[in-house]
Amino acid sequence: MSFTPIRGYDNYIFANMQLGMLQEQGINCHLKDEMTVTIDPLLSPALGGMKLMVNNSQLERAEQILEDAENEWVKTVPCPECGQTQLQKIVETTEFPGFWGKVKSLLINGQENRVNKYYSCLNCKKTFNEIM
Ligand SMILES: [Zn+2]
Repeated sequence: MSFTPIRGYDNYIFANMQLGMLQEQGINCHLKDEMTVTIDPLLSPALGGMKLMVNNSQLERAEQILEDAENEWVKTVPCPECGQTQLQKIVETTEFPGFWGKVKSLLINGQENRVNKYYSCLNCKKTFNEIM
């Protein structure tokens, strides 16, 4: 049985929240590198933090559950700028060209492509990296 990382975390509580959510839905998953991160947070960036590992046969379903949860959650968060609950999640993927570009990205981001995620407000048009 093989597993694929679908999310990376540097926040222990958030990682376990998402893990629990997937397990409730019958997804076979676990966190990797959790111990190392908990013991020594300084090592965390080098390891890319905690990885949420999901059984390959359930990847699509797991991704869907996390997406839905994130989208539902974003709808309840007021914009830090104007206070309206009109935030939208934007995801941009940057592909690194060539072998060494991919290796470098793997070391830095823990994955071959850089995923740029941010939130945009439909009302005031401001964008935010974090809204928690
Ligand atoms: Zn706004």
